[in-house]
Amino acid sequence: MPIVATCHCGATRLEVDRLPESVTACTCTYCSKTGGLWAYYEPGEVRVLTEAEGRDYCPKGLNHHHFCSRCGCTTHGISPAWTEAHIGGNTIPEESRWGINARLLDDVDLGAIPVRQIDGRNLW
Ligand SMILES: [Zn+2]
Repeated sequence: MPIVATCHCGATRLEVDRLPESVTACTCTYCSKTGGLWAYYEPGEVRVLTEAEGRDYCPKGLNHHHFCSRCGCTTHGISPAWTEAHIGGNTIPEESRWGINARLLDDVDLGAIPVRQIDGRNLW
């Protein structure tokens, strides 16, 4: 059964076919200010059902942070598929990755999904 992520007002609705094995909490300036908790997926795994009021905040031209301009929810991000191998280096992954804000997943027990901590503020 598909799992749906919905912003507070319903203007953004995303759909995936599986629960994430873990969700990621990051300390970087963006993640700590928005409170996003990330469930990562390959690009083809996420279906955008509607993004009627969606906006894209892309401060450095790499990480596209999507949010709903009506209700303000941080909805998802599309970014290069960063790995530990890219930390401190000058290479940018060619592949992209989607991160859905797991707090928007409807009818999902978030407490049952392990949280992976990443110290993004000090890693990049
Ligand atoms: Zn909304």
